[in-house]
Amino acid sequence: MNAMIADAATGAGGANRPRRALVLGASMAGLWTARVLADHFDEVVVLERDRLPEGAAPRAGVPQARQYHVLLLRGLQLLREYFPGLEEELIAAGAVPFDITGDVKLRSRGKWLRQFPSGQQLLSCSRLLLEAAMRRRLRRDARIRFVEGVEVTGLVAGSGGTRVAGVRYHTRAGAGSAAELGGDLIVDALGRRSPTPAWLQELGYAPPEESVVDSFLGYVTRRYRRPANFAGDWRMLLITATAPHDPRGGLIFPEENGVWVVMMAGANKDYPPTDEAGFDAFARSLGPEYYAAVQAAEPISAPIGYRGTDSRWRHYEKLDRWPERYVVLGDAFCGFNPIYGQGMTVAALSAVALGEEIARAGGQLDGVAARAERAFGKATEGAWLLATGADLEWPETVGGASSNGLADRFGRWYIDKLLDAVGRDEQVRLAFNEVNQLVKPATSLFAPSVMARVLLAFP
Ligand SMILES: Cc1cc2nc3c(=O)[nH]c(=O)nc-3n(C[C@H](O)[C@H](O)[C@H](O)COP(=O)(O)OP(=O)(O)OC[C@H]3O[C@@H](n4cnc5c(N)ncnc54)[C@H](O)[C@@H]3O)c2cc1C
Repeated sequence: MNAMIADAATGAGGANRPRRALVLGASMAGLWTARVLADHFDEVVVLERDRLPEGAAPRAGVPQARQYHVLLLRGLQLLREYFPGLEEELIAAGAVPFDITGDVKLRSRGKWLRQFPSGQQLLSCSRLLLEAAMRRRLRRDARIRFVEGVEVTGLVAGSGGTRVAGVRYHTRAGAGSAAELGGDLIVDALGRRSPTPAWLQELGYAPPEESVVDSFLGYVTRRYRRPANFAGDWRMLLITATAPHDPRGGLIFPEENGVWVVMMAGANKDYPPTDEAGFDAFARSLGPEYYAAVQAAEPISAPIGYRGTDSRWRHYEKLDRWPERYVVLGDAFCGFNPIYGQGMTVAALSAVALGEEIARAGGQLDGVAARAERAFGKATEGAWLLATGADLEWPETVGGASSNGLADRFGRWYIDKLLDAVGRDEQVRLAFNEVNQLVKPATSLFAPSVMARVLLAFP
């Protein structure tokens, strides 16, 4: 084992030596990374603390997986490209396709929006089903190996201390079985509580600056059996909050096995309760249509709450000194307020960006890690601005740069007008969706064709 560490540290071993990547964490970011790196390495070893279930079952390391998760359109496009046929497998397993404007009954800014077909189809299923399907697909790939029940505890430096050459880990069963494993590229996909800032300091590197924006949003999710006689004209019912006065929103979403997920959220510390009476009152406050739908369905789980939804960006992309061969992505790099549904898609975009950096370097790995962190910064920026821009509209929100220059004030004024226009103009709504779904950058909302419709109030 130590010989392997030395090989990776010195780059010795010859051009034909099989190359190994280590991926730390087997959740969404880890799975995407393993998939992408399998195209560039002979072996990809995924180290995960949990024992991974065969099917769509919860596990301790990803407590958020019981909350509702939606994969944005950009993420679904990447899924179609990197996991061909998986969408069809998910549908066969009960995932529900839905048109983003045709099948969604949406109340935004207090008004019901018209339903019309957009041709943009998303997929609704549990996070557990999605993750299990991706995992099953990767397990069939001979280049990828999952090592389960191991806790990664630190990094191993290569000679000279300027590169990461491997990791230390122990089996969860006992501290007596500590070991090291070497790799040519090591990827931290350990989630929000990733220890990389401390690990970097142990190797003599500075920790990253952090940006944190917290709108004090709370979630509650409860699963119901969809009513057998349900005859509504929607697959998803969505009530959005309106800053700064109305912090409450909710949705009803279909999952596999005839399940409805009732998810309610309150920003600005208006946390939805998890007790029966409080849950019921919160649902009632979202309006008669929403409440009637919840009342018509039969609960099959208790309400589960979730807090701690701040957006947190560790700016690894800004560090001047960065160790070779070490990469941080996913929630470990930036965790978003989950209400915007961006985390899984940005993890996918980052994994793809890593693959592109490796390809661009012709397979040569030196320099790739620092360039990849900068690429993740770019993949993150648009989503970050969308999430934190919206969160900063709440009076209780903390964090974020104070921005009251002319351009920012114009930006806020324009977005306010645009949100009004979304309610009356289908073209503007489609343009807005493409940005929210991370298919297009926010700058596309300032294109003359969109601006004209927003400002001149085209019918
Ligand atoms: C309430 C909630 C709702 C959300 N809804 C959405 C949504 O609708 N859409 C969306 O795209 N995103 C959503 N997200 C975000 C999404 O869950 C994450 O972005 C996504 O899971 C990617 O995270 P990750 O893989 O980077 O980290 P995580 O999912 O946190 O996974 C980290 C993995 O590392 C393992 N691990 C941790 N430490 C160690 C260690 N020392 N050794 C070995 N293994 C270790 C863990 O067991 C786990 O498997 C939501 C998040 C929350 C909290």
